[in-house]
Amino acid sequence: MRERFPVFDLHCDTAVELSLQKKPWNSNDLHIDLDRGDRLLHHIQVYSFCCVYDEKGLPLAGYAAEERFIRALSDFYTQLDRHSDRVRLCRSAEDLIACTKEGKRAVFLSLEGPEAISCDPDRLDELKDLGFVMTTLTWNNPNLLAGPHTSDAGLTDLGKAFVRRAQQLGIVIDVSHLSEKAFWDLCDITSAPIVASHSNSRAICGHSRNLTDRQAKTIFNFGGLVGLNLYAPFLSLDGKADFDTVRRHIDHFLELGGEHHLALGGDLDGCDRLPAGFTGVESYNDLGRYLLESGMEEELVNHIFNNNAVHFFVQHLQKSRVG
Ligand SMILES: [Zn+2]
Repeated sequence: MRERFPVFDLHCDTAVELSLQKKPWNSNDLHIDLDRGDRLLHHIQVYSFCCVYDEKGLPLAGYAAEERFIRALSDFYTQLDRHSDRVRLCRSAEDLIACTKEGKRAVFLSLEGPEAISCDPDRLDELKDLGFVMTTLTWNNPNLLAGPHTSDAGLTDLGKAFVRRAQQLGIVIDVSHLSEKAFWDLCDITSAPIVASHSNSRAICGHSRNLTDRQAKTIFNFGGLVGLNLYAPFLSLDGKADFDTVRRHIDHFLELGGEHHLALGGDLDGCDRLPAGFTGVESYNDLGRYLLESGMEEELVNHIFNNNAVHFFVQHLQKSRVG
């Protein structure tokens, strides 16, 4: 039986936690560190910056959100420099391919909550220059662009302008946390595939953070990705989850046609309750083995763990460079 699996994970909150808790990236007690990533066959990770709530979970906006974002990003650039022998910041398909050749791990940046750039479409150029390849439209709070998953608010005119500018620049729109109304408003105007970086199936776990079947099918039909979230209450409403619970979400998304669109989006370091047996990024090896042992084809595990996301980002980033 295989011991090590390739992992491309679409969402973690590790970067901000490293900054807030002043912890080293190479080895720490968070869910992700470089040493434990080495236990995987390879580790490609989207590091997301969510700077719109404080330590007590209260909303941050305006200067407070921007200040937290600048500090966390500055700290993360320092970490990238310090570990440049092991990691590489990827802005393009070429960067991703070079990482594989050099045996380095690929790091992508995404924004969760555009309050950090004052929800301003004109600041998306700045975001791209900083190395970001993806952004959500909201976190859990309503903002100038759209409503979150707990609301009925759709996409505002500013939200539509934000989406258009992001897609012109080749920045992927991430619909995790978005309201259903805003999701459908987005689908009316999108000119590029969309991603739900860390959202599960609402048919399996009826939480508003999860995707309805119609939403998931639409993302698949657009050529986008859905990343499986490992936060236990998004896997099962009673918060009790194990690898079999994860498998139920996978099986349901596969029934909807997700074979080439399903990916990982663990929400690691953004959540405090993981499935039984999952302790951190190294546990993806255990999940991979479990899926093989429970009868899943190896090729399909590789698609979900790595290939689908690699294919999407190579395609998307190549397209964005040309356009
Ligand atoms: Zn999130």
